[in-house]
Amino acid sequence: MTKAQTATLSFPRALVPGSYQLRLVYSGKINTQANGLFALDYKNKEGRDARALFTQFEAADARRFMPSWDEPDYKATFDLTARVPANEMAVSNMPAATSQPIAGGLKEVRFQTTPTMSSYLLFFATGDFDRITKPSAGKEVGVVMSRGNGPKGELALDAEAEILPYYNEYFGTPYPLPKLDNVAGPGQSQFFSAMENWGAIFTFERSLLVDPAITSEADRQRIFGTEAHEMAHQWFGDLVTMDWWGDIWLNEGFASWMANKATQHFHPDWGGDVDHVAAREAAMGQDSFKSTHAIVQDVRTVEQANQAFDAISYSKGESVLSMLESFAGPDLWRAGIQSYIRKHAYQNAKTEDLWSAMEGVGAKGLATVARDFTNQPGVPLIEVGPAQCVGGRTVATITQSQFSNDERAQTMAHPLVWHVPVRASAGGPSAQILTEGPTTQIAVPGCGPLLINAGQTGYYRTLYQPALAQSLQGAFPSLGAVDQFGIMNDQLALSETGYQRMAIGLDFLNAVPANGNAKLVQSALRHWSGLYDDMDSIPAGQRAIANRVIRAYGPRLQQLGFAPRPGEPAVDALLRSSLISTLGKFKDPTVMAEAHRLFGAWEANSNAIPGSLKTTWLDLIARNADEATWNAIHAKAQAATGFAERASLYQLLGAASNEALARRALDIAMTNEPGKTTSSGMITSVADQHPRMAVDFVLAHLAQVNQLVDISGRSRFMGRLSGRSADASLVPTLEAYANANLAASDRKPIDQAIARIRFDSGKLPRERSELGAWLQAHP
Ligand SMILES: [Zn+2]
Repeated sequence: MTKAQTATLSFPRALVPGSYQLRLVYSGKINTQANGLFALDYKNKEGRDARALFTQFEAADARRFMPSWDEPDYKATFDLTARVPANEMAVSNMPAATSQPIAGGLKEVRFQTTPTMSSYLLFFATGDFDRITKPSAGKEVGVVMSRGNGPKGELALDAEAEILPYYNEYFGTPYPLPKLDNVAGPGQSQFFSAMENWGAIFTFERSLLVDPAITSEADRQRIFGTEAHEMAHQWFGDLVTMDWWGDIWLNEGFASWMANKATQHFHPDWGGDVDHVAAREAAMGQDSFKSTHAIVQDVRTVEQANQAFDAISYSKGESVLSMLESFAGPDLWRAGIQSYIRKHAYQNAKTEDLWSAMEGVGAKGLATVARDFTNQPGVPLIEVGPAQCVGGRTVATITQSQFSNDERAQTMAHPLVWHVPVRASAGGPSAQILTEGPTTQIAVPGCGPLLINAGQTGYYRTLYQPALAQSLQGAFPSLGAVDQFGIMNDQLALSETGYQRMAIGLDFLNAVPANGNAKLVQSALRHWSGLYDDMDSIPAGQRAIANRVIRAYGPRLQQLGFAPRPGEPAVDALLRSSLISTLGKFKDPTVMAEAHRLFGAWEANSNAIPGSLKTTWLDLIARNADEATWNAIHAKAQAATGFAERASLYQLLGAASNEALARRALDIAMTNEPGKTTSSGMITSVADQHPRMAVDFVLAHLAQVNQLVDISGRSRFMGRLSGRSADASLVPTLEAYANANLAASDRKPIDQAIARIRFDSGKLPRERSELGAWLQAHP
């Protein structure tokens, strides 16, 4: 059936039980986006047009390459033979067993048999490649890239070599294949950056190779993080595979959580501890709407399987795992993981199997908590009643209900109930309790300000009585960065949703010290920037915010300087970029003058802006571009040869605030000029400032745009274009799009975008009036 994407085999007579051989004659298609076998075109070292082939099979696209039972629990061994041009390098999961020249300038490469694995993990690539390698933990690790770009892969290769033994030890089962490659693709996708094919990871160039002309510090960290994520999948996903796509979080939640662990281990100065809390906030952003779903999902269609790769599977998965690790203790937790891997190696597993393994090693009570958070959707709300000091301890009542952006009344009346591990502190050592039912008494050593969710590993929001919030605010500067980051984001979310006055959240935002933790300040800048956007059409309010932020954070940028400093902390480089973007958005005169100066220099010499800050500065310039500036960026985009730089410059054309220029970017996206995987990035870029224009344009060119987006991502693309807008007029447009183009079972991404727009537009009147009053009271 075409609609259900299933095939039925009919035979002339009924088959009696026995052994048969089924022979299928099959031919497939080479695609232009990352589904099945696909081609990426690029300019080679000599500046000539070149093409390489790659495969991308997850979730259900191995069917586009070969006839198969393309479901994760039909594991098999694979023997792949390929005929390719004799001067190309062919790469697959396993090393080549033989390679023989054959007629017509070709060679036939036969790869070694793979271990038993799921079809979605098979990989093949061929092209004019280089391969750099290193020995690690008795295996060979390698990075494969287009010829002549070997040095750009050194960072990734070093990371691969150091992570492999670390994972061997953590998982307790050593990596079983003879080699592990990471293959760079000169292109991009709007939906993923890398894929964990067993023994042959695929990664789009920007997330794997370092190009001094354009790679930022954030990119360098992403290269390590992406590699750590895909390598974790070699165990969680490849060796032990989820039984069905409904348990995809077992792959993605785990790989995300493990990547953070590896990052904190090898780069403790990168702020991975704060990133964990950022993942919680990202997850709650989706999980606080009625349109969310439980971590363990019901997946019935191919489209639903594709849609399952969302913030709930990745970020809520990661956050819940952090909470459970903290609940069980790291040693017991790791013993449980090792036991789970040993028991299910080369097989499939369900979420329940993980909890059994945890109980098997003695993690008492963990399964109860774990089931509540993986089988139920949503975010618990912990309300903290008045606190009293009794005999050197702080005694308080906490009440549990459910936090919601768009169903507040219903969830107040009929909340879901969780067993929530709550860690609290009050100036002394922290204490952990588990909520049982709606109200729980807590008694915490010490009589200082009461902090709920100390350490921020809990997946819930905390609503304090105003007096408690105030005393916590007094203690805010002396708290650790992780708690500061968690409290600020938590309190702002509660204010924006109307659980408390805006002033409470704003007071916490205002309490962030200008010289505070770099990640905390980055987050504060993002909030101020969002509040500025919300004051759209109230120029006095916008001016008040801009002046306030420039006054508070301008000196921090001066301290850091406009240019990168050798040997500076990595988090400072990230903060510098955020400060330039935000202060530039607020038209800080010193930042704008530097942008102007750098642009002039860059026009004359493409290397005049340091590569690590090139996108930051050019983004600011592109946003404010007049026609001459825009044309200059366009000319540089046409002349650029490296994929990452070229794609970045084309996407910047879409960042223009000027509507006519943004429209020109959309028109260019419809031509062959930017390259087949860059066009959709240009449309996404336009949507950031002109969501209505981008949505209308895509609807007017739907068939053509569909060719520019991964087949598996089409239903999600439209949702993303509009999801950051507060323009309520988009709601009927999206409804009409979903009704005309999506089956009822497949419209979740659109429903989520609609819920987000309704919430963001609905909250504006109250937010504007309370924010305006707060700004006046805090000149
Ligand atoms: Zn993954």
